[in-house]
Amino acid sequence: MSIHILSDELASKIAAGEVIERPASVVKELIENALDAGARDIRLEVRGGGQRLIRVADDGSGIASADVPTAFARHGTSKLETADDLFAIQTLGFRGEALPSIAAVARVTMITRCAEDANGTIFKVENAQTLLYQPHGAPRGTVITVEDLFRSVPARLKFLKSPGAESAHIAELVHAYALAYPHVRYSLVNDGKLTFQSAGSGKLSDVLFKVYGGETAREMIAVARDENHTDSPSPQSPGSNLAVHGYISPPSIHRGNRRLQYFFVNGRWIEDRSLAYAVSEAYHTLLMVGRFPLFVLNIQLPPDAVDVNVHPTKMQVRFREPNEVYRTVQRTVRRVLNEKFPVPTISFSPGAHTDSRPPTAPLTNAALNLVPPANDGQTQRAFDDNTLTPSLHPSIAPSSLPILRVLGQIASTYIICEGPDGLYLVDQHAAHERVLYEKWMTEREMVFAAQNLLEPLPVELSPAHWAVYESERENFARAGFQLEPFGGNTLLLRALPTLLKKREPRAALLEILDLTDEGGNPIQAQAEARLIMSICKGAAIKGGQVMALEEMRALIRDLEKTTSPRTCPHGRPTMIQLNLTTLQKEFGRLG
Ligand code: ADP
Ligand code: MG
Repeated sequence: MSIHILSDELASKIAAGEVIERPASVVKELIENALDAGARDIRLEVRGGGQRLIRVADDGSGIASADVPTAFARHGTSKLETADDLFAIQTLGFRGEALPSIAAVARVTMITRCAEDANGTIFKVENAQTLLYQPHGAPRGTVITVEDLFRSVPARLKFLKSPGAESAHIAELVHAYALAYPHVRYSLVNDGKLTFQSAGSGKLSDVLFKVYGGETAREMIAVARDENHTDSPSPQSPGSNLAVHGYISPPSIHRGNRRLQYFFVNGRWIEDRSLAYAVSEAYHTLLMVGRFPLFVLNIQLPPDAVDVNVHPTKMQVRFREPNEVYRTVQRTVRRVLNEKFPVPTISFSPGAHTDSRPPTAPLTNAALNLVPPANDGQTQRAFDDNTLTPSLHPSIAPSSLPILRVLGQIASTYIICEGPDGLYLVDQHAAHERVLYEKWMTEREMVFAAQNLLEPLPVELSPAHWAVYESERENFARAGFQLEPFGGNTLLLRALPTLLKKREPRAALLEILDLTDEGGNPIQAQAEARLIMSICKGAAIKGGQVMALEEMRALIRDLEKTTSPRTCPHGRPTMIQLNLTTLQKEFGRLG
């Protein structure tokens, strides 16, 4: 084929593919246009998963009759004039691509009127051909109807999921924009049924109720704007005029995926795995690996500190100082968590006689109660504000654990100890995990050594495990795993971390792959820490294993030396404590 210029129609279809991937992309662009037009009420209607029909009606500024065809022309926009404007974008749209892109792959009808025009306008376009352009009575605002999306692009049509799945995407999107703009009223009608409505009260908590449901929403913790926080050392850094506000979930509420995590940067819904990871890390040791917090976080920063012109869908942004942003967001979240949930010591609440535990539980007649410890500064250690891997900071104060005397073991799982303040039950697995983890993190070079296998061992991975291996390849190597591709989904295991030398190698590798968060490796050091946690868990003595008195003593000694003896690296308690006062109360020795 000779070289030739693509026809306009084909070129615009190709361009459209970048902006409009699926029905939800149409909804996104139309909501953004409505918001840019200052709408306070946005009504959406969807049929057939959006493929048959998407209608968005707003009460925004509307478009002057003469401007309507330009709005549908490629690069037709009212939001950008000079190249300089690109660095100070205040609107959601700016590329002038959405309407022409939609019109290239669907039949579009727009009815619009601006305040200055006595009469409204109707404009109809299909496959980039104008079909109708004439006056039409209309209230102020804009109604856009998009029908038969992708009918002329069968390749695209094939990739669409079921109408149900596409509607779910659309709903998720509407939820996101409702959360980002609580003062705007939204309604979504799906195949004739009202499925979502927000009041437009301006209160984020009201929208949270609609999106997360009352039970979860009630528990969410507000992250308030903190105007005079002093986290940022240099006044020049964007961190200093960076504000974060919204809601985060308490450690007790979490999900197996990141779907209910929302970031908005200057009112723009964005996806940023590194940022999501930074927030997860703020929950460090409060959440188990593989569990994700819920949050809605609005990040406000000067327009010139963020480049929004990264991708046609505008879902990604580039921060001028990404690390500064990640750190500030993480600190803000950690500060809030820290205020609400200082590392708990567990004790029995004095005088509590309601037993909510099953009758087989070893200690009866006292309800387990999480009591926040006195704020003596020691308890704050796990959340040292100045470090990304908080519980491992070398400058941390020595252990707050008293000297414990080992008395025995129950159920081959818990070590019974006596301390100055009563009885301690230590979970041997969790305790060992903590010990190994800190040892590894402080004596990295020493423990990082690999243990060679006598004979390399082929291990076949499931696709899910393979994906983990792919994304964590370097970390695995650094941690002491020697793995080589061996055809298909099979790896040749040549060496594994010394820590795992007592384990059967294949089972150990598979367990570590299982334990390693699928969340990717956005920040090298943190992904590494996560892998190390998994290895320590795999290497730690399991529950149900009988331990000799000497072994238990050694473990407790090691635990006393750790910086965070009361929780395992995944945030579970390593011990519970029954203090003397409670014992005396329980035995009726106190009045
Ligand atoms: P962009 O939003 O990037 O400017 P679009 O193709 O989405 O490009 O829209 C083109 C122009 O049409 C916008 O700049 C705006 O002036 C106008 N427009 C689109 N939708 C609306 C709306 N709902 N209300 C008012 N004006 C609109
Ligand atoms: Mg737009």
